[in-house]
Amino acid sequence: MSQSPVIVVGAGPVGLSVAATLADQGVDVQVFESRSDVDREPRASTFHAPTLELLEPLGVVESMIERGLIADRYQHRDRERGIVAEFDFRLLAEDTRYPFRLQCEQHKLCDLLLARLEDAEHVQVRFDAEVTSFRQDDAGVDVEVTAPDGRAQWHRASHLVAADGASSTVRQQLGIAFDGMTYGDRYLVLNTRFPFEEHLTDLARVNYVSDPEEYVVLLQAPAGWRVLFPVPDDLDPEVATDPEACQRRLQGVLATDEPYEIFHTKLYRIHQRVAERFRDGRVLLIGDAAHINSPIGGMGMNNGIHDAFALARVLPDVIGGRRPHGELDDWARRRREVAREYVRAITDRNSRALGERDEAARRQHQQELAATAADPERARAWLLRSSMLTAVRSQGLIPAPSGH
Ligand SMILES: Cc1cc2nc3c(=O)[nH]c(=O)nc-3n(C[C@H](O)[C@H](O)[C@H](O)COP(=O)(O)OP(=O)(O)OC[C@H]3O[C@@H](n4cnc5c(N)ncnc54)[C@H](O)[C@@H]3O)c2cc1C
Repeated sequence: MSQSPVIVVGAGPVGLSVAATLADQGVDVQVFESRSDVDREPRASTFHAPTLELLEPLGVVESMIERGLIADRYQHRDRERGIVAEFDFRLLAEDTRYPFRLQCEQHKLCDLLLARLEDAEHVQVRFDAEVTSFRQDDAGVDVEVTAPDGRAQWHRASHLVAADGASSTVRQQLGIAFDGMTYGDRYLVLNTRFPFEEHLTDLARVNYVSDPEEYVVLLQAPAGWRVLFPVPDDLDPEVATDPEACQRRLQGVLATDEPYEIFHTKLYRIHQRVAERFRDGRVLLIGDAAHINSPIGGMGMNNGIHDAFALARVLPDVIGGRRPHGELDDWARRRREVAREYVRAITDRNSRALGERDEAARRQHQQELAATAADPERARAWLLRSSMLTAVRSQGLIPAPSGH
């Protein structure tokens, strides 16, 4: 094994996943994170079945399930007509050990991984440590890490793994294009402790409610419900996030006597972007540093964690000289293919269908969803795709259960 460690930039769910799985294989890893603690912003809440299967050997899944909520079905609804289609994850009972979506805040995975890494050999996680620049040569990468007081230190690594999020410094310093598009609507996400499940009949924990004027996504997380609304690009952010305007939006979903208690409000700009390449010599891009997409379908973080595990299947052997460096190109090509052909396609379709304004197209889409959900074989195929099992299996990351 090389003397130099692998340096991971970013202690988000993707950076900590890659660090943990590399360290388990005896690879020395240093993680540098510019923040002083884990980011607790309520972003990802959905973990799909293959992600839980991949995380299983790290010993965190049981605790995640204890800290999360099991969504064993999800619904497509129409804001006027109610339930259009319900997909039951129990149809995947023979496909996965986890036939559900786990609703659990992403920071809980980070906390569990950090706790595990604290006692682990081979790995060191440093907060208040921003990666500010790097340069690579044939044998390794020199990485500059700067503390909040401005003191900088250089560290030598065999490889640099950039898990530094959508605005990745590493990707930008390499001049790697991040092509794609930005949606016209932004997403307003309101977090409330109001128990929607006690007031809306037969509500699932994950609900996509289409409407030509104002579609809504209703997701239950352990800390409360997340309600996502579209916001036109030309609306002033201050107007969009004004507490009274947020109340009006929630009252439009369900009128209540008391005002909603909103504990977190955030407006997001939504993109579909994939980095031009995921590898540049000894530098590898994973997670949001490599791809970002619409959150409808809950795939961004999941896909990033899949990048991490796929990389950890190749990198230790490359470092140990048992496989040629070029195999990292295969990894990069395959992961980029999933981001482009699979995640981008599905999340874009989901986002457009929710806000479809053409009545005939909307109806047709809803009829197709209803027909798919009503046929167990088609519904199973749909769930295999939307839970990312198809993509993860096609890349050989987890085996298909025998008989399939
Ligand atoms: C509203 C919303 C809902 C979402 N829901 C889901 C969902 O249900 N399921 C799903 O799969 N995905 C979802 N996502 C996407 C998900 O949040 C991201 O894909 C995920 O956070 C990406 O993880 P990451 O570790 O790659 O990046 P990040 O979580 O962004 O972490 C990057 C880390 O790198 C650090 N960093 C940055 N630059 C440096 C530097 N130079 N030096 C050191 N550290 C640095 C940052 O501080 C940060 O901690 C959602 C996103 C949004 C906005």
